[in-house]
Amino acid sequence: MTGASSLPTHSSNDTNCIANSSNPTTKEHEPISQTIKRSMRELLPPNELNSNVAKFATGTLAFYTTSFLSQCIQYKLKISTGTRPTIIPIMIGATTVAMGSYMGHLSGVGLQSCWNRLQSGVDIRDVGRMGMDAVRQCVEPMKLMFRQDGSLSRSERREKREVWMHAAGVCIIGLLSYKTILRSHFSSLSPSSYTARGSFARVGLPAPPNFNYATSSQRAQLERIGRAWGCHTCGSRMLFSNVAKKDWHKPRFHGDHIPPVSVAKQINERWYRRKLGWKVSQKFYPQCRDCSNKQGGLLSKAINAGRKNLHSVGGGSESHFHGTRLRIGHMAGGIVAVTTVAQGFDGKEVVLASRERIKQLYTWAVDAGKELKGKIQSWWSFSKG
Ligand SMILES: [Zn+2]
Repeated sequence: MTGASSLPTHSSNDTNCIANSSNPTTKEHEPISQTIKRSMRELLPPNELNSNVAKFATGTLAFYTTSFLSQCIQYKLKISTGTRPTIIPIMIGATTVAMGSYMGHLSGVGLQSCWNRLQSGVDIRDVGRMGMDAVRQCVEPMKLMFRQDGSLSRSERREKREVWMHAAGVCIIGLLSYKTILRSHFSSLSPSSYTARGSFARVGLPAPPNFNYATSSQRAQLERIGRAWGCHTCGSRMLFSNVAKKDWHKPRFHGDHIPPVSVAKQINERWYRRKLGWKVSQKFYPQCRDCSNKQGGLLSKAINAGRKNLHSVGGGSESHFHGTRLRIGHMAGGIVAVTTVAQGFDGKEVVLASRERIKQLYTWAVDAGKELKGKIQSWWSFSKG
């Protein structure tokens, strides 16, 4: 078994924590669970716990701010989870995650630089100036990104390529963390439509094709999903909804048809659907009473007005804005800040060390993948033979 003793020792400015790992002879006899644990230890930077906690907090805050601004812009442009084709909110969400991750990385670089200076005894009153200085040094190489190659020297061209590769690496780590570790949807960063799958939807149950209500066992399941993840439109878990009535066991959520029945009926009436016999498939999602009432009100108003496009009701300016709410996916910025910002010393050094760190992360991922693949293959051949 390999433990912390086999890991490389890290000096204060050391960034080479990933590539040089433990003894290869002991690695071979190590169980898979130990390999995963060791790989996780190697992935975390050697900085002390406090600076990692601070970087995580600033990275998350930077992501939150980016996501808030993105949602404000989407709200102005009348884009919501109900916007069709669905690729539009998904692509906007993915772009927001990539930008939020990069902002998380930049804030981590600024914080690390200030942190290092404070550790070396610099006066706390100079922290603001140091932060600005660090951000300026981060932004400096970014100016190269959009300059024409013809106006650049050979070394500047090389640096421009490195800056782009570095930015791509940061964004990929952010996108992967958002999707795989935090299990979040890209479209959940758009305002929530009242007549489409909401931003807070996680799990849905298939609804019968005859527009019937959810069965009692489905309602019980939806209640559990709602209590865990909240109303699919507004995210409320309705924690205090039954407090006044002292009726703790009363259901807090409705089983909401998505798309709603009137919308599905109107879509089914399209001539090509009637000819081909295509029916819209629906799902049930848990929805709170307030959102259910709002959805009902918006749809009845639209039906009375004879609107032909009921699927767009409840989206755009009628959608639910939730940009101020802290979401689990925002932690992608924190994960990026912790994993991609190296220690270095001042702003420039932190920037260069972080660039090295991304390269090391890439090498680490390739090596870890090969190692795990080998383990799984040997385990598979052992269990078969
Ligand atoms: Zn709601």
